[in-house]
Amino acid sequence: MNLIKDKNIAIVGGGPGGLTLARILQMNGADVKVYERDENRDVRVQGATLDLHYESGLAALRKADLMDEFNANYRPGADKMRITDKHANIVFEDDFAISENEEFARPEIDRGPLREILLNSLKPDTVVWDSQLVSLCSKNNAFKLEFKNGTEAFADIVIAADGANSKIRPYITPIKPFYSGVTALEGAVYDSEKNTPKIHELLQGGKIFALDDSKTVVVSSKGDGSLAFYMGFITNESWAKDCGVNFSNNTQVLAWFKKTFAGWDNLWDELFENASIAFIPRPQYCMPFDQTWEALPNLTMLGDAAHLMPPYAGEGVNMAMQDALELAECLLNKNFPDTHAAIVAYEKQMRARASEVAKMTMEQTVSMHSPEALNNMLAMFDPKAG
Ligand SMILES: Cc1cc2nc3c(=O)[nH]c(=O)nc-3n(C[C@H](O)[C@H](O)[C@H](O)COP(=O)(O)OP(=O)(O)OC[C@H]3O[C@@H](n4cnc5c(N)ncnc54)[C@H](O)[C@@H]3O)c2cc1C
Repeated sequence: MNLIKDKNIAIVGGGPGGLTLARILQMNGADVKVYERDENRDVRVQGATLDLHYESGLAALRKADLMDEFNANYRPGADKMRITDKHANIVFEDDFAISENEEFARPEIDRGPLREILLNSLKPDTVVWDSQLVSLCSKNNAFKLEFKNGTEAFADIVIAADGANSKIRPYITPIKPFYSGVTALEGAVYDSEKNTPKIHELLQGGKIFALDDSKTVVVSSKGDGSLAFYMGFITNESWAKDCGVNFSNNTQVLAWFKKTFAGWDNLWDELFENASIAFIPRPQYCMPFDQTWEALPNLTMLGDAAHLMPPYAGEGVNMAMQDALELAECLLNKNFPDTHAAIVAYEKQMRARASEVAKMTMEQTVSMHSPEALNNMLAMFDPKAG
């Protein structure tokens, strides 16, 4: 039986998870719309470069028949990684040139091009921009979605792909993620060669992980010549509210950095003196590893909405895209008697997988923000040195 025949499917959120799901479902004849908060598709996509993994993010792109587009847009060489101490001394570097075994490769792609590939793969008007969901009502086995701009839409099946602060998740479960103990302060510099020449030189078109004093600075080069970075440090959940720093004022943020990251090399100051946009404080949350809920018949979630985790193992996008792949496979599987059974099966495997990855991610987050962080990282990447 075709579970989605004659059903309207609403995906709320056009991030990597929501768009991947829309693509795979649409390829298989589904009637699907994506409701996205961003005003239009030209909004500049921020954030670090993403490494996609063979068994998750890349598996979803293979299923979506988008590997040619991926191969034309990924950034060979961007997987070059340098691990440094606070003085910017390089203690380990690798370019992960492992082309002989693609299963271990971690090719990097910027968020913007990945989003473009997915958007271009959809039929025109699949994505309804400027549609920030504010509420969801269920009536007679269907849903009414209400948006901030006053419009509304109707759907038979709703999928929450609306990220960390999902508006839909509370309709599925009251379980909230817990604070990891680490907050990241995110920034970006456009034209890094001109604006942050020393960091640009150290980056070599790849990534830097600087670890010391139980703190981290992660910097990624991007294909458009900009760089993205985030400083991680252990603090209270309410730090951003309480710290008194104006995140739009580079001088104030630099003063905070010099005090909090005392003893770190002046080289890092470039990032603050030349930041191109306001800093974004991001307290890092993680899903409880044992979360569970009763599956609903026609409402489910994926990606960060379902299983938020810190970025320190590089798994969030990969998990979101694998969710999309597995949810699509369940909804398209004619052996299930109804969508409820398909959602039960999807959620069971998604929770088990994400729980394992979240545990590993939390261990990595703690390890990278411990006094032994450098040795821990060396032991992971270069066991002979550890
Ligand atoms: C600093 C930082 C660095 C990271 N680095 C990595 C990394 O290197 N590798 C990795 O794999 N992961 C990384 N992550 C995690 C990764 O960004 C997420 O796990 C991933 O983007 C989740 O995808 P998603 O599709 O579930 O949600 P999102 O990417 O968050 O997309 C959600 C979408 O929903 C939209 N939306 C939100 N609310 C609404 C609403 N009410 N109505 C309509 N639309 C809405 C948003 O505009 C957005 O487009 C990082 C995260 C951070 C914060």
